[in-house]
Amino acid sequence: MSDNMSDNDTLFMKRAIELSLENVKKGGGPFGAVIVRKEEILAESCNLVTAINDPTAHAEINVIREAARKLKTFDLSGCVIYASCEPCPMCLGAIYWARIGKVVFANTSSDAQKIGFADSQIYSEISRPPKERNIEFRQLLREEALKAFKAWEESDNKTEY
Ligand SMILES: [Zn+2]
Repeated sequence: MSDNMSDNDTLFMKRAIELSLENVKKGGGPFGAVIVRKEEILAESCNLVTAINDPTAHAEINVIREAARKLKTFDLSGCVIYASCEPCPMCLGAIYWARIGKVVFANTSSDAQKIGFADSQIYSEISRPPKERNIEFRQLLREEALKAFKAWEESDNKTEY
């Protein structure tokens, strides 16, 4: 990591942190994120879970959605995400799906756990086999569901991602 305070990663992280602080003043969660492409901010947001009653409205998810809308593509290769806190498993999954190649973060998931957010706990849950998780997992009707997979495999009309 660079100690040069004026490097671009530092500048974009400062913006993500600023967004997290502004959100706390509005009564929201202490999380901010920005997405950058070619050294330019494409999207910025904060945690809107309580503001819009959406449990998935984490800052990272919000900026991924906005950036994809702006670029009119689901593929955010070449973008960098700056998150004021290490992404939770949901956001990390979204980052993989969006093909974002670089994540810069400030607070860690154990810092988040210390102030009451379940990040670390969810990380340890998802590394367990389904049957050992706190959420009940039941598998059924695989043969029926596989029909859609087969249809997709054989379709000439699909957009692969
Ligand atoms: Zn998240």
